[in-house]
Amino acid sequence: MAKGADISPSEGGSADVPAIAFDALPGFWSLLGRGLTRRCAWCGDRKAYFVGWFRRQDRCQGCRHGWRRGDEAFELGATTANIILTFLTILISILVAVVATWPDVPTAALIFIIGSLAVFGPALWYPVSFTLWQAIDLFMRRPEPDELAGRGDADL
Ligand SMILES: [Zn+2]
Repeated sequence: MAKGADISPSEGGSADVPAIAFDALPGFWSLLGRGLTRRCAWCGDRKAYFVGWFRRQDRCQGCRHGWRRGDEAFELGATTANIILTFLTILISILVAVVATWPDVPTAALIFIIGSLAVFGPALWYPVSFTLWQAIDLFMRRPEPDELAGRGDADL
């Protein structure tokens, strides 16, 4: 993976600065690792395209590639990723709590704590759900040479 010119992260969300050109993207597990750690799947930048926990800009602050990639329904995939992450958190929490407290499982406390995960989990997973879906999207719809070079988005 070769990067072009370094671009300042303070450029905001405007599209007038060209994106960094890549020769290729990493494999599935690297993309997944970047997505799960809330980093840009393209370049691995820690800020990615977030300017707050819930606020996004159109392009990555590190590489200037857009997260939407021409997909107007990108948020549908991110929402699905969010639901899966939240459900997995709830499932693993239930399993750990039941195994750790067996045979005297504190049912009322577990309902309260794990119910709280159901309420707050989607907010906690919000940015990761976007970067994770971006990683999966990049794996499923491999970028064409023009998109790798930073000239436009992918076609659906
Ligand atoms: Zn990036």
